[in-house]
Amino acid sequence: MSVVVTMAAVRPATATVVRPATAAAAPSASRLSLLDSLRGRSRKLRARFINPSRLAGLPVLRELFGDLTGAGPGVHAESAVSAADASSAFHLITMRPFTDKVRGRIGAYRIGFFPAEQRVARTAAYANPEGFVEITASNQDTPVSDHFRLRDFLTHDQGDVWPKYLVLREPLVDKLELVMDELRTMGIAVSRLRVMSGFRTPQYNAQGVGPGGRVQDSRHQFGDAADVYVMNGARDWMSDLDHDGRVDTRDARLIAAAAERVEREHPDLVGGIGVYTATSAHGPFVHIDVRGTRARWGAL
Ligand SMILES: [Zn+2]
Repeated sequence: MSVVVTMAAVRPATATVVRPATAAAAPSASRLSLLDSLRGRSRKLRARFINPSRLAGLPVLRELFGDLTGAGPGVHAESAVSAADASSAFHLITMRPFTDKVRGRIGAYRIGFFPAEQRVARTAAYANPEGFVEITASNQDTPVSDHFRLRDFLTHDQGDVWPKYLVLREPLVDKLELVMDELRTMGIAVSRLRVMSGFRTPQYNAQGVGPGGRVQDSRHQFGDAADVYVMNGARDWMSDLDHDGRVDTRDARLIAAAAERVEREHPDLVGGIGVYTATSAHGPFVHIDVRGTRARWGAL
């Protein structure tokens, strides 16, 4: 027998936690509220990345997902996000530790060397990442939030090499969801915020370092930056957001304005916002990151 518990019927804190007998059983209110605490400012996060060695200090995750301290890399789904919507599962994704990268690679996948492996990190934000999400052909479509999947953030190289490895930070995904919300609040239709470039392995990033190109310490290497545009049609290109009959920098500025408003409302998600004009290779786009300090550049 199962009892349907809604979010409105929150049990007192002393109540016994009743675990659902089966995956189909209704989740307890306490489990729902624990899961809710993981969903970020946007309430739309659907994944948490963790180095299994750190789970001991995270009782909420242990309560929800059990003891995964010795677990290998993988995706652990909890379907109890919402009793009404079983498809909205939350995922605890256990990573490969950073030390699994040997001579710049894990297995056949080339990652390269992070800035802090080559010189003293300029701030804590530039320290080496804790670990890597292992991406396989079968887990790449795992949602990390309501509108983004793991594969959206992969480096665009080594197409035939599996598994691939990804660094991704939850606050970036949270901020991108909030930017989508903010654009809609501004009256702009958004069916998709396309990630043109998310994580860039150091070895990939290094290929474009130079005047007018990528910077050596690019936040893309730390999994907290994304170059994005709104893609409302079938064509993989920025949409005409201000309906002035042309796709140009003015459309990108609207995304930057939305990101600016998100930062004002959520100062803990502060970071970089850069506006890029179109070239023959790409349309206009906006760089958004959560580096922890304010940075602005480009055609703002
Ligand atoms: Zn960028």
